Amino acid sequence: MREIQIGGLVSFTTIDYPGKLAAVLFLVGCPLRCAYCSNPHLLNVGDGQYDQDKVFDWLQSRVGKLEAVVFSGGEALMQGPALIEYMRRVRELGFAIGLHTNGFYPDTLARAADVVDWIGLDYKATRTQYPRLVGQNVAHDHMMRSLDVWLSTGKDLEVRITCDPRFVSKMDLLEIANGLHDRGVRNFAVQKYVPHFEDSEHFTTQQQRDQFFTDENLRHAIDALFDSVIWRE
Ligand code: SF4
Repeated sequence: MREIQIGGLVSFTTIDYPGKLAAVLFLVGCPLRCAYCSNPHLLNVGDGQYDQDKVFDWLQSRVGKLEAVVFSGGEALMQGPALIEYMRRVRELGFAIGLHTNGFYPDTLARAADVVDWIGLDYKATRTQYPRLVGQNVAHDHMMRSLDVWLSTGKDLEVRITCDPRFVSKMDLLEIANGLHDRGVRNFAVQKYVPHFEDSEHFTTQQQRDQFFTDENLRHAIDALFDSVIWRE
């Protein structure tokens, strides 16, 4: 079986898996091209810089010190069966398995469901805005199928949205939150857009980026829809 391609690693984090000390592995390759992507070096399919066996040995040395391993990217599910097998081995070490995903591979997510304990699912924009933001016509439909796949497992998830004002309005955010509430999502995270490039194409004002966080009425309306809402500023 093909090895997984790991392009980056965070050895310790308290914010990438709820309530657990974790390591994060960033896998290479992504089918999307989001306008605000902060990991452009991970987008193209290719060889990772880390040997999967050496990483596994290192994870073994972290047993008792860390509680979870999160697979991120890029889009980790792009690596299919090799990823699922690797997750299974890591889980057998006693770690909880987390997955950050854009939801593009609902069928692979269904196959991974028995070895993944929690997912953070990106909900990037309304269906109308999705193609402009991610460069893919079918990504919203795939993501919604992934959401339904995961909800059917009854396992924990967080749906998160990055509020890039070029693609998301306050009305969009409320519409998305209401739709997620109606589907049964209980944990939602609203993330501030942080520009990684300073050119005119990426220009937004501080006020535009802050608007989702400074509108108390909007915050209260969204807070009321979920068990927990994290406002990541
Ligand atoms: S899904 Fe994530 S890794 Fe892929 S292009 Fe979008 S922001 Fe970048």
